[in-house]
Amino acid sequence: MSLLGTPENPLVVAVVGSGPSGFYAAEHLFKQLGSGVRVMMIERLPTPFGLVRGGVAPDHQKIKSVTKVYDRIAQREGFSFLGNVEFGTALPLDMLRQFAHAVIFATGAQTDRSLGIDGEDLPGSHAATEFVAWYNGHPDYRHLTFDLSAERAIVVGVGNVAIDVARILGRTCDELSKTDIADYALDALDHSRVKEIVVIGRRGPAQAAFSPPELKELSEMPDTDLIVAPEDAALDPLSEAWLKTSGDRDAAKNVALLHEYSQHAPQGKSRRIVMRFLTSPVAIHGSGKVEAVTLGRNMLVERDHGYLSAEPTGETEVMSAGLVFRSVGYRGVALPGVPFDAKRGVIPNSDGRVLNAPGGQPVPGLYAVGWIKRGPSGIIGTNKPDSVATVDSLLADLQAGTFGDTPASGGLEAALRANGVRVVSYSDWQRLDALETHAGERLGRPRVKLTDIDQMLAALDE
Ligand code: NAP
Repeated sequence: MSLLGTPENPLVVAVVGSGPSGFYAAEHLFKQLGSGVRVMMIERLPTPFGLVRGGVAPDHQKIKSVTKVYDRIAQREGFSFLGNVEFGTALPLDMLRQFAHAVIFATGAQTDRSLGIDGEDLPGSHAATEFVAWYNGHPDYRHLTFDLSAERAIVVGVGNVAIDVARILGRTCDELSKTDIADYALDALDHSRVKEIVVIGRRGPAQAAFSPPELKELSEMPDTDLIVAPEDAALDPLSEAWLKTSGDRDAAKNVALLHEYSQHAPQGKSRRIVMRFLTSPVAIHGSGKVEAVTLGRNMLVERDHGYLSAEPTGETEVMSAGLVFRSVGYRGVALPGVPFDAKRGVIPNSDGRVLNAPGGQPVPGLYAVGWIKRGPSGIIGTNKPDSVATVDSLLADLQAGTFGDTPASGGLEAALRANGVRVVSYSDWQRLDALETHAGERLGRPRVKLTDIDQMLAALDE
């Protein structure tokens, strides 16, 4: 038998998940092994691209154009897409391993972190991640409802997701109708009575996690004023000292922009986004639904290694609000049969090699990339070097002769179909893509998303 990883004896790699990190892993495998590798990409939904489709905001179409790169990867000989296949249920790990030498998990971080405060479960209190998935037409979230009848919404957290949520709430129907936002969300947001969106950061302006361009975009919205009070833009002495020494250019830019905005008078636009710092939600109140939030004032204190942490001062205020979105980070979910670090919400790994426990031993043939490997951080491009690093570990293992028997002859796809699974191929997805974009063309929109899995499968079977 010829060497594994050659065209005569190709390495077979399954990638579970079809977001950016999965595609970058596939790309690096093809780059290194050419026709010596076959990549099977397994995806739970009939549609690929993970958070590029289901997370990136609909008014950020330019960012979504990265899918053109993924399209090219999908055209490589030796690539197959197996959509509408759920890992763990339709496809248990044992079954998958019969068909692949190695498995790379690229499943991202599918759930949210909670605040752990009273009233968090009241109707009207939501995870920002759910709102994002809902307005992006993710099939699992299309049935959610958001009561947009109150005038004030509070967004907890000052990362880029919080900014996305605030911006979408601040957009007019006219602005949103030029995007690929889900139709039902467009309709609901058209009837929104939300006039004020208060975004609160538990630490100060220098510690905000959003990026300067995202902040700037908020200040340029056609029908929404960005309001920052001078006292919220001001730095405490600890942050001032940190900013001088840290060399963090994004933080310096954010601080400068916030200072600039704090000097602007509101222009009387129909909605407002108010940004506040050193503020945490202490409790959410209401009878049967969110009606108000107790906000606590914080101050910064220096912890180990110079980390500036928020400490309550004891000062509180009650703010009326009908909606609360907690936007305090995504969190990875355990996969059936795969080791999981519940504390960090990631698959334990060393350079992308899955470990049987945090700090434990490698599980031969299993790898992780992206947010399920490192946690929910960075932008889309951050996943490229991350996936390259994991694939390099895999290739080193290939060199070392780690991989066992050649997988079962006969395809995984045929085995799944024999089990009654309606496998969606990449060309199926391209048909769905064409249906969506044609429907959009008529309306001057990038696409009109199909959001229902049955509807997608029916369209394919027509
Ligand atoms: P993130 O950047 O980690 O921000 C989370 C925010 O939540 C931080 O402000 C954090 O404050 C705060 N937070 C955490 N726990 C909290 C608590 N208990 N109470 C109050 N605040 C709390 O996460 P994200 O916004 O979900 O974004 C995830 C990743 O996706 C990021 O890397 C982001 O840049 C990226 N993303 C990028 C874009 C874009 O490029 N346009 C859009 C969306 C998302 P502390 O700093 O005090 O912990």
